[in-house]
Amino acid sequence: MARIAYVNGRYQDLRDASVNIEDRGYQFADGVYEVCEVRGGRIVDFPRHMGRLQRSLSELRIALPMPLSALLIVLREVVRRNRVGYGIVYLQVSRGVARRDHGFPPASVKPSIVVTARPLNFAKNQDTAAHGIKVITHPENRWPRVAIKTVALLPNVLAKQAAREHGAYEAWYVDGDGYVTEGASSNAWIVTREGRVVTRSADSGILAGITRAVLIEALAALQLRFEERPFTPQEAHGAAEAFVTASSQIVMPVVAIDGQRVGDGKPGRIARRLREEFHRFSCFS
Ligand code: PLP
Repeated sequence: MARIAYVNGRYQDLRDASVNIEDRGYQFADGVYEVCEVRGGRIVDFPRHMGRLQRSLSELRIALPMPLSALLIVLREVVRRNRVGYGIVYLQVSRGVARRDHGFPPASVKPSIVVTARPLNFAKNQDTAAHGIKVITHPENRWPRVAIKTVALLPNVLAKQAAREHGAYEAWYVDGDGYVTEGASSNAWIVTREGRVVTRSADSGILAGITRAVLIEALAALQLRFEERPFTPQEAHGAAEAFVTASSQIVMPVVAIDGQRVGDGKPGRIARRLREEFHRFSCFS
């Protein structure tokens, strides 16, 4: 089946879809993105993702290319045309096409927008969650403005590749004070031996994950104890459980960190429960 992308106003076969070589997203990574989960053909937590998109765009002074209501229509159409029941929809907005020059182009240059969608293998993801994933730690080496969901992901690419080369799935960044910030493409969590669910505050050092925000609401509703504070890899090694959150993975148990097992080396009870119950607390568009 042909895959379809939306590129600057047109739905195109992915094989023919392209952006101009002077697109600033391509030349300067001057753009932002969002990834939403798709379930039952519907987009998960669209309003929250759009809230973050608007914050990222306004930090970089890029205009929203179309109203959110129109954006929802485009995202739904890309999901529909690609027949995605379970998967992800990807949205990227760059500052647009202009002669290469570091400073911003004239205000007349319109932002570029690209939307793609693809199915994910539900059974495979469930299987991964049933076994849990391994993570490595990696020195924090990103710019400080990680709250902006920019397409400038080179440090994340290199950290993820380092994880792969160590037989792990994710890399957890560790800041100069010895605390875990987040994963290369996920937020990091532990569950203490006393049953408290811990993740770092979104005030510094992390991207404020949408899955993270929904999960914090879920924890309150499920009457699970929650602490927003940093933790070290040492604390994580001694924790009862660990997991990561991201839109494409929801809650993914972590069973080993730097080759040392977490808890009993199996996905934790709380992480499994949160994975099962998560979508009761999300919204569908
Ligand atoms: N942190 C980083 C660096 C990410 O790239 C992501 C997702 O891609 C997340 C956290 C999780 O964010 P969300 O739950 O909104 O997908």
